[in-house]
Amino acid sequence: MLERGEVANSWRRERWDSFRLLTPNWQSRLPGLHYDGTDPDGYMTMGEITAFLERYAGHARVPVRTRTTVTSVRPAEGGYHVTTDSGEIGCRTLVIASGACNLPSVPAFSRAVPPSVRQVTPYEYREPGQLPEGGVLVVGASATGVQLAAELRRSGRPVILSVGEHVRLPRVYRGRDVLWWMDASGVWDQRYDELEDLDRARRLPSPQLVGTPERETLDLNALVAMGVELVGRWAAVRDGEALFSGGLRNMFSLADLKMERLLGTFDEWAEQAGVEAGPPERFEPTRAPDRPRLRLDLRSGEIRTIVWATGFRPDYGWLDVPVVDEKGRLRHDGGVVDSPGLYALGLPVLRRRKSTFIHGIEPDAREVIGHLAGYLG
Ligand SMILES: Cc1cc2nc3c(=O)[nH]c(=O)nc-3n(C[C@H](O)[C@H](O)[C@H](O)COP(=O)(O)OP(=O)(O)OC[C@H]3O[C@@H](n4cnc5c(N)ncnc54)[C@H](O)[C@@H]3O)c2cc1C
Repeated sequence: MLERGEVANSWRRERWDSFRLLTPNWQSRLPGLHYDGTDPDGYMTMGEITAFLERYAGHARVPVRTRTTVTSVRPAEGGYHVTTDSGEIGCRTLVIASGACNLPSVPAFSRAVPPSVRQVTPYEYREPGQLPEGGVLVVGASATGVQLAAELRRSGRPVILSVGEHVRLPRVYRGRDVLWWMDASGVWDQRYDELEDLDRARRLPSPQLVGTPERETLDLNALVAMGVELVGRWAAVRDGEALFSGGLRNMFSLADLKMERLLGTFDEWAEQAGVEAGPPERFEPTRAPDRPRLRLDLRSGEIRTIVWATGFRPDYGWLDVPVVDEKGRLRHDGGVVDSPGLYALGLPVLRRRKSTFIHGIEPDAREVIGHLAGYLG
């Protein structure tokens, strides 16, 4: 197993200081190792996550070669030839487990932003004090965007949040963590080959959730109550101005409707399964601003920093096998890549809705490795 940094590298290098998992502790389970601390309903801090993964590497006796960067993989007689910064390796099969989120996705029009405005991605962001004084425009209202908007607002800065398509969820539903419902009701176990629109499921943004000791809900209403200003999806930059889409009201209604449908699914399942929980709840609709602004002069000094919380993508720059499509996505069927002996794990909805979560890896890995063993056999 080759790792360019250390065990738990992405958590150590690519997250901000206050980061906590949004999945509850009891859900942090890997084959043969479950969370066994005193706070099963809490959310791990960065130190706790790295300690958990280090413990797992020891427990599973994984032969990790750290500080070994793979710079090229190419087909070779009987398998693949791997070049690393510390030597060459030949192998019959290869599993790509290099992560789904290696690079931040930033729109091309970011290049037209005036140089007086600093631009950061979540991979560079550590804490509010690192940014220039003044207003911040956070772009993207999924898990990362809502968490960073809240932290920056709490630090006393004016914050504008540009909202595109998003997934709204309450932190707690009928007295239980909403991710308990996802898990127990079987939603997270839905398989890739049973989904109506797999492509869409794979592109779904992360839910608006944060893991805090208070189990707070961090939806758009909560952000507005904190003083965050909402604007529409950022569509373009023209003459130094950011142009935002209108139609916030429709977008909010759609996200509310989808949340209601999901909660309805939980209610139906709870009734059938005879689950004891509080009574069904419904939440206040997302309040749209009366007249959200459609443009913002980026040269006026109102905004000193832009935080691009517009998602992440994998980096296959080192993969010299023709299995990546024009959109940069790996061509695979449930982790069986379109080249004999090549496999992948940890990609969105690889085999199940939970594929990119820590607790989602086990069933996927069993099936993918089953295929790999058959191939070798
Ligand atoms: C902001 C954010 C928040 C998240 N929150 C949660 C959460 O709360 N709960 C949850 O379950 N999941 C969460 N996830 C998803 C989380 O990333 C996965 O659960 C898990 O980390 C995936 O593990 P992985 O090993 O597949 O990928 P990664 O953790 O990305 O690991 C891939 C590893 O490959 C190494 N690597 C990459 N390229 C090379 C190369 N060329 N050569 C050598 N090594 C290489 C990297 O250094 C890295 O260590 C979050 C993801 C992000 C981005």
